[in-house]
Order: sequence, then C-alpha cells, then structure tokens
Amino acid sequence: MKSLWSDAEAAKFDGQLGPRVYTSRLLGRDKSLVLHGGGNTSVKMLEKNLFGEQEVVLYVKGSGWDLETIEPAGFAPVQLDYVRRLAALPALSDPQMVNELATHTLRAGAPAPSVETILHAILPHRYVDHTHADAVLSVSNSPDGDRRIGDIYGDKVVVIPYIMAGFDLAAYCAREFPRRKTANTVGMVLLSHGVFSFGAGARESYERMIELVTMAERYLAARKAWHLAPPAAAPTVFRREDAAKLRSEVSRAAGFPLLCRCNDAPNFLGFARHPDIARISQGGPATPDHVIRTKPLPMLGRDVVAFGSAYREYFERNAANAREKKTMLDPAPRVALDADLGLVAFGRSARDLGIVQDLYEHTIEVILRAEALGEWQALEDRHTFDIEYWDLEQAKLKKAGNAPVFAGEVAVVSGAASGIGKACTEALLRRGAAVVGLDRNPAIASLWRRPDYLGLACDLTDAGAVSAAMDAAVKHFGGTDMLILNAGIFPASQPIQAIGAEMWTGAMSVNVGANLILLQACHALLKLAPGGGRVVVIGSKNVPAPGPGAGAYSASKAALNQLARVAAMEWGKDGIRINSIHPNQVFDTGLWTEEVLSSRAKAYGMSVEQYRTNNLLRTAVSSRDVAELAAEMCGPLFAKTTAAQVPVDGGNERVV
Ligand code: ZN
Repeated sequence: MKSLWSDAEAAKFDGQLGPRVYTSRLLGRDKSLVLHGGGNTSVKMLEKNLFGEQEVVLYVKGSGWDLETIEPAGFAPVQLDYVRRLAALPALSDPQMVNELATHTLRAGAPAPSVETILHAILPHRYVDHTHADAVLSVSNSPDGDRRIGDIYGDKVVVIPYIMAGFDLAAYCAREFPRRKTANTVGMVLLSHGVFSFGAGARESYERMIELVTMAERYLAARKAWHLAPPAAAPTVFRREDAAKLRSEVSRAAGFPLLCRCNDAPNFLGFARHPDIARISQGGPATPDHVIRTKPLPMLGRDVVAFGSAYREYFERNAANAREKKTMLDPAPRVALDADLGLVAFGRSARDLGIVQDLYEHTIEVILRAEALGEWQALEDRHTFDIEYWDLEQAKLKKAGNAPVFAGEVAVVSGAASGIGKACTEALLRRGAAVVGLDRNPAIASLWRRPDYLGLACDLTDAGAVSAAMDAAVKHFGGTDMLILNAGIFPASQPIQAIGAEMWTGAMSVNVGANLILLQACHALLKLAPGGGRVVVIGSKNVPAPGPGAGAYSASKAALNQLARVAAMEWGKDGIRINSIHPNQVFDTGLWTEEVLSSRAKAYGMSVEQYRTNNLLRTAVSSRDVAELAAEMCGPLFAKTTAAQVPVDGGNERVV
C-alpha cells in the first residue's frame, strides 16, 4: 500500500484543520482501509476561550460523516481534559458516554462526536488515525492472530484484545496503553477490530498508518495469502421468482419489506459455491462495524447461507428484557449467499444495499486471506450480539422506525420517461419507494442518477424484452410491489371509416397488449410482495365518455379497463389489488401535442382555450395531480379497495 500524500494537493487544504481534513480524505479514498463512514481521525489543538484561557480541544470525526468527503464542519470539537477524565471512571454506560461527549462539545450544531472519541483522547499524540484495514483484520482473524500480530509489529504497536467499541474499550486502553508503549510505538492494534496510528503531524500519522498496513500486507504476501484469485464460477440462468421469493421470506422475518440485490459476479458466485461455505460464512463479521452473522436459513428448499441478526432464540432465553426489546427486534439477515443468485444483499433503502454489498465484498477478501493463513476465525457470537444490541445501535434502530410509507418497496412504472409516468416516478420516490422506470425512450436510463432509481429502455410490446427488463429490475431491487401501467399512445384523430389497420393494431398493441405482457411478467412478483401487490392502471375519461374521432384510442382504453377489472377478480385471492384512474385534459404530457390539442378541440366544436378548462370545476389538471393519486392508491388509504375507477378530470358532465 502506497502513501497517497501529495504536497501540491495538501497545499489546497488551508485553515487550522486543513491537514486533518486532507489526510482523513486520503484514508477514506482507500476502501481497503475504511468503508462507508467507518474509521475515524482526530487532531488536538490549543485554543483560547472567551476568557483568554488556553484549553486543548480535540477535533474528532463526527458521526454521519464519511472520511472520503469530510470537511472541517465534520469534526466535533470536544474538551480534551474532560474526556480524558471520563476514561478513568470505574464505569459509564454507553448512552451516558454519548451524553457526556455531546455536552462537552464546544460548537452548537456540531455533529455527535464518534463513539470512539475517548480512544482518540487518551492517545498522547496530536494526530490520531483509525482504520479497519482489511490486511490487519485478515491476520488478526486467523489462528493465533494475536501472536502473528506480535510477530509482525513487535513493539511498534500496543496490542489490545477484542473488546466492543465503547467505554469499556476506551477505559482498558487508557490503562494499558501508557503501561505497554515503548519508544518505538507508533500505533495500536485492536484485535478483530482495527488499527490506530498517531504522530505529531498529519502526514506522519497518515504515513505510519500506511506503513503499519503495508507490514500486514507483506506478511500475507509472504504466505501467499494476499493476492487471491476469486474462485472461478460461471453464472446460472437467473430466475426472478427465486430472488423475489427469497426477498419475501427475509422481509417476513424482518417484519417489514426489504429491498434486495443479487450479484452473481464471479467472485461472489465463487465464494457462494466455496466447498466450505457453511463454515467460513458463519464465522461472523470481519470487524464489529461490518455485517453481523446469523444462522443458515432454509429457503427456496435449498441451502441458502444467510447472515444478519438472527438472535430470536437469544431473546426468548432472556425473557426479562424481551418485552422492551422485541419492538426493535429485527431477526432478518442482511446478506445471503446462494449458489445460483450469488451474493444477495438486503436493506431498507437502496443506499443500504450498496453498503451491505461493499462491506461483504471486503469481508470475503478478509475471510479468504485468513483461510489461506490457516483458518478464518471471527468474533464469537457473544460479541456480535453485544454489538448489535448495545444501547447505541438500539437508538439508531428507533430512529429508523420513522421510515417513509414505501420504504423497502419497489415500484415499476411504464412509460416513465415523460408526462404522467415521470410524475408517478417522482411521487413514488418521494414516498420512499425504489422505482424502476420502463420506457422505449433511451433517455429513461439517465433520467435520475440516484441509488433508488433504475431506468430501463425497453419495447413494452415485446414480451422477451419485457421479461429481460423485469429480470434486471429484480436483480437490482428484489421484486415488484407496485406496478403503474401508464405507457400509452393517442393516435391521430380519425373517423371510424378512415381508421387504418396499422393505427388500430398500433393502439391495441401498445394500450392493451403491452399492458397484458407486463401484467403477466409481474404477476408472480406481485403475489410475493411482502405488503401485497398493487397495480394502478392509468385509464382515460374516454372509457366512460368516449370522444368522436378517437375510436382506436377509446376502444383500446376500454379494453384495458375490462382487462383490469378481470385482473381484480382473478388476483384478489393473491392479495393483489388493481385500481384505475381516469384522467382527462392532462395537457402537460407527451400525448398532447399542439396538433392533437387543436384537433380534439375541433372535434368538440370549441376553441383550444375553452377545451383546456372544459370541466365542472373549471380547473387545469396536471400530471402531478394524477401521479399523486396513483401513489396514494398504492398506499394504506386504498388498502381495502380493488377494481375502483376514479376520475381525475375536474368533473365531467358526461360522466356524472
Ligand atoms: Zn473502530
């Protein structure tokens, strides 16, 4: 591992925290050192308070900040002397510790200081860097890990046995570090957790981290345990119902819907098919920050090895606390390994899926290296339980309880590149759903760049293309809970005697046939939706009140309406509800070109302006009005409603 330090780059970081921000970002850039908010850094500064008194302030990474992108505001200034005194207390609960850190922070609005703040405070050096380096964990989590760490570092580091992060660890280090350090000491290794380095300057502390990690890498390389080729594995045919079924079972275990992502990249598939997978996968996380272990869960009638937080039995044995804790109990795994699906990540949000996958990708490397050294040895059950259910994690879970209405759910929207479909996508994203947008317009792919959106260009009249798109959607988010059938065309106005065969079949094929194809492709997925499947059909006022000149359009929308009614009858037993919206005069959509608008106005003998607000309420209807109703129809308000047809048209005399 090479130092990334560059004088030119460092010079761009000015201000008193400049060097601290710069080397923190250098650590954050390397994913084998820290991942997703893991790791933390600090610097001690002498400052004058309002009374002219000097005091030492510890600037430590605040929670919610990532080292890779941290800014000066991401460091919380805490009173060093006070925090050091805490370390000498005989006991302090973790919530008390968090309270003391928060109340001895010197800037209103600063982020909460890291839970590892006391560790930074007790190390007697200006700059302190802390990572969960893969290389150090690979050695530490192998047989005789502590001896090997000793062999590598000698008295360069003080080695601390595994203790869960929090007050007890800090108090232990405060006692042991001064006693065990020597003149050669430049760091501290916490077994099964990570490594600290320190120095008088930002560069010194950072480069000592690189040096310490490099020593572990060399140790592994010398034992042929560093560059490990992933086991070769060829993917099998993806079956989207399998993935949706797995997601459904894990969601049931969690008690709420979870998104899921399948990745059958060769390294994941190879690991999932590892001959010793049952043993090595159940060893636990590489470090307490990482994924938590659980037991194998029999799913899909075959062995899927799952990780997560399955501690139901533990709770049952500990009945005293059970009632209070049960409300927050989430026994569902966050990672499953499947010989066909590969690495399957679960999460409440699309962002979580990415984090779980990254963490486990590094865990796989650490496991395989430790195996190459002898045997992977992870934390014992007892420790992983402690981590997950310690008071601070519980507080995080409580916060997560206020999730948006569609958190963990997936919506598929057809014709999502513009108009009502685009507005539906926005309405669903706003309510916390992950959305798959389908459209024949290739712009669909890049309409939004956010983790909870996937845009797929697809000819909806082609059953093969729709099936491939649904495979991609399910690989990415795990299933389909909501389906918005929106794509449609409005052919040019023609009296019946002039309707050409092509126009007729075109309207029928897009407005009816394509929706049948999508319903067929999604039925099995909707049936597996943890909260029940929901379909919203964007119909038309032309269904109850057809217009002259719109024969092909009106007939096709009426056929779709009948199809939706039959689907409601057939799929009710599967817990799928299907409701229709009949919009009218939604002029901000792709259908309403100036040409269509003037020809429709003419068909009714009106001016364009009269036609625009030709409704009982004399109001204009927008795509967003329709989309908001579509989203609400998928929510709890319509939980007991199926086969309803609701107009969004400002009121139409011919319908009332
Ligand atoms: Zn740590």
